[in-house]
Amino acid sequence: LAKERGKNNYQYYNSTLQNVSTRKMELEVGLRKALAKEHFEVFYQPQYRLDTREICGVEALLRWKHPKLGMISPADFIPLAEETGLIVPIGRWVLRKVCEQHKLWKDAGLGAVPVAVNVSVRQIQDLGFVDDVKQALRDFKLDPADLELEITESIMQNIEFSRIVLNKLKELGVKIAIDDFGKGYSSLSYLKYLPIDKIKIDKSFVDDILDSTLNGSIAKAIIEMSHTMNFSVIAEGIEEEVQLAFLLNNFCELGQGYLLSKPLDVKGVTELIK
Ligand code: C2E
Ligand code: MG
Ligand code: MG
Ligand code: MG
Repeated sequence: LAKERGKNNYQYYNSTLQNVSTRKMELEVGLRKALAKEHFEVFYQPQYRLDTREICGVEALLRWKHPKLGMISPADFIPLAEETGLIVPIGRWVLRKVCEQHKLWKDAGLGAVPVAVNVSVRQIQDLGFVDDVKQALRDFKLDPADLELEITESIMQNIEFSRIVLNKLKELGVKIAIDDFGKGYSSLSYLKYLPIDKIKIDKSFVDDILDSTLNGSIAKAIIEMSHTMNFSVIAEGIEEEVQLAFLLNNFCELGQGYLLSKPLDVKGVTELIK
């Protein structure tokens, strides 16, 4: 009986694994097709000055417009794109799309809207990345100061290499932000070694910022540290007025979140910028 059950268990396990890898393969094939057919759309979430509530820039957030499944969130395909290396061409597409949009806004008389683009470690490790950025800046006549690259603490995995690439990007004049700050488990010493302009306080510290003294204290400490180190600081995931008030009282100058605006399609965000 035990043997029988063991065998069944094995079969169950085996077929589950197979389903997972089949799904993954389908997803990978789908991603390649999506790239070829440009079945992607960039949404933009406005970033605000908290004191005046003026828009000071937008963060580009990628969506996959799947012909059958509808809009797919990046959380569901970025990890696979990273694993397969597809994030390199996908990321290049996003970067160029965003730079193009920046130019369209400028040409339409809306001014130079600062744009932020998320960049995976895998892209930083790609030897063509700096040239891709240079090319996009040139092709769409962007002032490099209007482009911010958001990277996460995971670049510390290979700090020496990251430092070289980030310094090259810095030389171009683009800005560097550390996304989801505080969520990784890296040592803080890297902050001294990398050319960083901005810290983005992870949403988890903004949640319950008032209910939990701990989250409030962490947020305050990040804000203070950022200012001491001459970084600007932005809070992500602001959903309630009380959170915004707390951040403002503690001298956090910038913020984004559903309270201020959700990520919008080009049409929606253009209306807002107007
Ligand atoms: P992220 O860069 O930290 O972006 C913030 C995420 O939080 C976005 O999710 C945004 O829609 C969501 N968000 C913003 N405000 C609020 C809020 O008030 N409440 C809540 N609950 N959520 C809020 P999204 O668009 O699903 O993106 C998830 C992650 O996927 C991003 O996190 C980023 O790491 C990654 N990602 C998105 N687009 C790209 C891309 O073009 N390239 C790369 N490499 N990664 C991307
Ligand atoms: Mg981001
Ligand atoms: Mg973030
Ligand atoms: Mg995040």
